[in-house]
Amino acid sequence: MTMLPKNFQLDPQLRFSQIEGEVLGVRLGESLRSVCSTPVWEALQDGLMQVLATRTPLSFETELLGEGHQKIEITPEGAGIAVAIQPKVVFSPGNADEFFQQSSEMLCLLELGTATLVRVNPAWHAALGYSPQSLNDRKLFELIPDEDNLEVTVALGQAAQGSTARFSCRFLAASGEFHYLQWSIAPGKDNLPAYAAARDITQSRAVELEIRRQTHRDSLTDLPNRKSIEESILKLLTSGSHGAFGVMVLALDRFKWVNEALGQDGGDQALMIIARRLGAALRAEDVIGRLEGDTFVALLPGVASEGDAHSVAQKVLEAVQSSFALRGIDIRLTACIGLALAPFHGTDPRTLLERADTAMYQAKKASRGHVTLWREGMSLTGIERLALESRLSQAVDRGEMLLHYQPQVAAGTGHLLGFEALARWNHQQLGMIPPDTFIPMAEDTGLIVPLGEWVMKEAFGQAAFWQQALSGLGVSVNLSGRQLSQNHLTEHIEELLAMSGVHREHVDLEITESDLLQQDEAKVKDVLFKIKDMGLQLSVDDFGMGYTNFGRLAKLPVDRIKIDKSFVTHICESAADEAVVRAMVDISRTLGMKVVAEGVETQEQFEKLTQMGCDIIQGYLFGKPLPAADVPRLLLQAT
Ligand code: C2E
Ligand code: CA
Ligand code: CA
Repeated sequence: MTMLPKNFQLDPQLRFSQIEGEVLGVRLGESLRSVCSTPVWEALQDGLMQVLATRTPLSFETELLGEGHQKIEITPEGAGIAVAIQPKVVFSPGNADEFFQQSSEMLCLLELGTATLVRVNPAWHAALGYSPQSLNDRKLFELIPDEDNLEVTVALGQAAQGSTARFSCRFLAASGEFHYLQWSIAPGKDNLPAYAAARDITQSRAVELEIRRQTHRDSLTDLPNRKSIEESILKLLTSGSHGAFGVMVLALDRFKWVNEALGQDGGDQALMIIARRLGAALRAEDVIGRLEGDTFVALLPGVASEGDAHSVAQKVLEAVQSSFALRGIDIRLTACIGLALAPFHGTDPRTLLERADTAMYQAKKASRGHVTLWREGMSLTGIERLALESRLSQAVDRGEMLLHYQPQVAAGTGHLLGFEALARWNHQQLGMIPPDTFIPMAEDTGLIVPLGEWVMKEAFGQAAFWQQALSGLGVSVNLSGRQLSQNHLTEHIEELLAMSGVHREHVDLEITESDLLQQDEAKVKDVLFKIKDMGLQLSVDDFGMGYTNFGRLAKLPVDRIKIDKSFVTHICESAADEAVVRAMVDISRTLGMKVVAEGVETQEQFEKLTQMGCDIIQGYLFGKPLPAADVPRLLLQAT
């Protein structure tokens, strides 16, 4: 490219005799031809010759002398000639100007270096409420909020570098409000003002923001929802600046009871209170969201160690668990927390959330108000799971499945009444696998049906044998929801009962509250009545953990409810827990059911539960689940 000076004079031999401004490589006395490329020389040659010959000025336009459209003026100057080369402003009066003036689009000329609106068309004044002309020569940065400065500076730089720049920013209207403008700036040339067009997208932006808010926010608490939290996790993972961070999932304990007691509105208010408390307990840079129902999540940048995570969790629990008044009632909620640490426990949002969630469920199993950090083995990988599932299908045939029996005793006296049969899987390589791992797996795969039949066969057979020593001895077997909806369940049970010779009036089937209530009401009722007709007992297991629906429960032929361990554990320290268990006992009494308390570990708990009116006690205080071989010893003591 030829770098010609913008203004220069040539002598009659077309050598530079004067140059305005220094231009690299062009010296006085040098011939014009020697610094011009051939096309440029050809573009200039005719004009120069003509002016030299006629001594009259000449002006013409060409594209050849540089990047853009250039206007060349050649004027006789003494014996030589003067040349002025100017970039031509394409925007010239005439049709284009008319278009500019009358367009309903907001068009303008923008000086990129100084960010000045050199000229704006009337559409600007109309759209933004300014009086005519008042936007001309205004600086852009006076009209946009500081937060948008960076965006605008980058865009102006882009245009100055020769690219089209597109961006959005807020822009001050005459009313004092900001409108949202979407800009497009044409590439600027040679420090000349660039053309720009802007569109007022305030309306559509507002709609977009609202949609974004709705799809990214939980409507009750206005906290970010799961989708938004996943995005935030991704940002933390990819930003690199934060390094490790903690993912905390918090779920309120027995929140269903709060809903039950206070109604939906009261429950909602309680959730909003919890949301606010989380916000107050955590730091400004922590991100808090609600995943669903009573489950919240927090992302904790900088929390990198187990110790840090636990101390934040404790702080949060304290905040959540202090009591508050709602409709004149003093309420104290507890919560369980599951933690996962990024990037150690996962490098994608799903895995991290899943693992924190898994840890939270483990915490719930331990007790209320518990905190658990995720660890390897809590959740299986896909392949481990597949391998375990295929092995599970052969566990019975391989003789790896067995039953342990946990004593159930009479409240008050502590007399042995019977046993709950609990499945155990003794995997040849992996050793004992807990039922919390393989029962859900068996339920998912449908293996629970044959497994459940094996459990009944085994337990009925054992019980029949033991009943020879203690005729009134009871046996409780767990039945999963999947089995309830199995065809011919009752026929199968009838067969197993007949085969074993067990005294069926002492056989009890335990079905969890959530399994009972999740199934089709009419079907469940039908099956349960058939079971009752066969002369068996029925228990509602894990009572209080699901959404208790007393109306439905009252219509079912249930003999007893089992109060879940998590309610029993704190019965001696927490007045609230005591009140809840008392209410459960009262309800059971009203419905004519007996009450079994699970997870009783201390003498104090035993006494308190007895005094409250529980009928049957089960827990480590009277024995952990035992292998069948250890049961006769207990039977001997009982007789
Ligand atoms: P579940 O039916 O609620 O059984 C009670 C669980 O609490 C048992 O755990 C028992 O060992 C434990 N437990 C009892 N007393 C205490 C105590 O004082 N303190 C503590 N910390 N724990 C106590 P396990 O045997 O691990 O069983 C876990 C769950 O697996 C059972 O909960 C039940 O839902 C399921 N399950 C076990 N066997 C079977 C089965 O044959 N069929 C079905 N469908 N589910 C089963
Ligand atoms: Ca049970
Ligand atoms: Ca239970």
